[in-house]
Amino acid sequence: MPITSTNPATGEVLKTFDPLTDQQIDEAIGRAASAFRKLHGTSFEQRAAWMRAAADLLEAEQDDISALMTQEMGKTFAAAKAEVTKCANACRFYAGHAEGFLADEPVEPSTVGAATAYARYQPLGPVLAVMPWNFPLWQAMRFAAPALMAGNTGLLKHASNVPQTALYLGELFRRAGFPAGAFQTLLVGSDAVETILSDPRVQAATLTGSENAGRSIATIAGRELKKTVLELGGSDPFVVLPTADLDRAAQVATTSRCQNNGQSCIAAKRFIAHTDVYDQFVDTFVAHMSALTVGDPMMDSTDIGPLATQQGRKDVEAQVADAVSRGATVRCGGQAPEGDGWWYPPTVITDITRDMRMFAEEVFGPVAGVYRIASIDEAIDLANATSYGLGANAWTDDPEEQRQLVDELDAGAVFINGMVTSYPPLPFGGVKNSGYGRELSAAGIREFCNLKSVWIG
Ligand code: NAP
Repeated sequence: MPITSTNPATGEVLKTFDPLTDQQIDEAIGRAASAFRKLHGTSFEQRAAWMRAAADLLEAEQDDISALMTQEMGKTFAAAKAEVTKCANACRFYAGHAEGFLADEPVEPSTVGAATAYARYQPLGPVLAVMPWNFPLWQAMRFAAPALMAGNTGLLKHASNVPQTALYLGELFRRAGFPAGAFQTLLVGSDAVETILSDPRVQAATLTGSENAGRSIATIAGRELKKTVLELGGSDPFVVLPTADLDRAAQVATTSRCQNNGQSCIAAKRFIAHTDVYDQFVDTFVAHMSALTVGDPMMDSTDIGPLATQQGRKDVEAQVADAVSRGATVRCGGQAPEGDGWWYPPTVITDITRDMRMFAEEVFGPVAGVYRIASIDEAIDLANATSYGLGANAWTDDPEEQRQLVDELDAGAVFINGMVTSYPPLPFGGVKNSGYGRELSAAGIREFCNLKSVWIG
């Protein structure tokens, strides 16, 4: 199957690549294994210098790589530029903190009958990274920066619709000074993942993607006894209670749902408003959603570009059609336009019931489902009534309600009165079918390390 770069704004095929052969895959794994031996012998200081050079390259090439992302997957140019900045910041964050995060952890020697005892973090070796197209630079960087700083090497199998961004990433770290083979892009389809992950030279895998892909990789890794980190889908709740700043909540609800053209794992997707403020919140939310500009993603005036793939738009259309056929109300949007490109308008849907697909499934487009509740307990029950658990958002000025929400929402992150976002110093990941393991922070760099106990008598 060819690997194709297609402009989702027009449907035009930009470039096609042949996937690597089995022999090329084998050679790449060999290079990753020998680069690991070289990288393992380098100091944190050396790796930090290379990582900062990668950040400098990203900043110098920001416009070019941003335009490439916009062309390949439709995010707005402004959002692409912000993504590049975020990646450069993550490189610098791990350049500055890796040594401290991975410092030996001393143990009081007398408690274990030793003269010296400590725990030491050591890299594992080549790690396979299977990544999605939605934040094509950031998702890969969230793995690459800590992995390389720890001394691991990376094999990137990127989504098949962003090969040009993938190739850019495959060159970036070598150009920044890392040994050849330390981070490589493998242009392969998902059918090659089993071969790569089963190779004894590959020590572990990380996947950011759908639940199905997660189950598949976890199955292979389970058989091979290899460590995995899985960052999967989400259907995040956005709870609005009576003391909330409703204008601000409605504004952030709009940004959260529509960021990246509605295709973010941590976008708020289910909006749960208290009956006392329901009408006011929904009216304001609908007004903000309707005011967004859908159009050419390269234009500064555009808020929302096309969905990244034709199939992605078909999925969203089918979910909305299912809700409407079962009695849901469309407050704005709800209809894809005719013509070229995979556009979908900002959409708000109310009167959702449990038999609708939207109730249980992740909607990967700018479509918000709104629910009415009468108490905080009902809000938490509804927020948790999903198989996912990635990021939860809640709006209330009441400290007791804030405490209860932090305590009782089943999610990898809870943000009160602000949008769920990833920050390098905070761990990032999910519970339930949103996956396991953490990226970012100290937890992220430690995931692919052997924590070795050292005892010297
Ligand atoms: P996807 O279809 O699962 O693809 C993600 C990656 O997995 C791609 O590289 C894909 O390769 C590969 N893949 C797909 N099926 C596979 C399989 N059976 N075995 C091995 N690899 C497989 O997901 P997507 O549509 O690109 O991305 C959207 C999903 O990712 C959403 O559910 C979203 O919520 C989730 N996501 C989660 C996070 C997070 O941090 N938790 C962040 C972003 C996105 P091909 O392209 O070659 O098929």
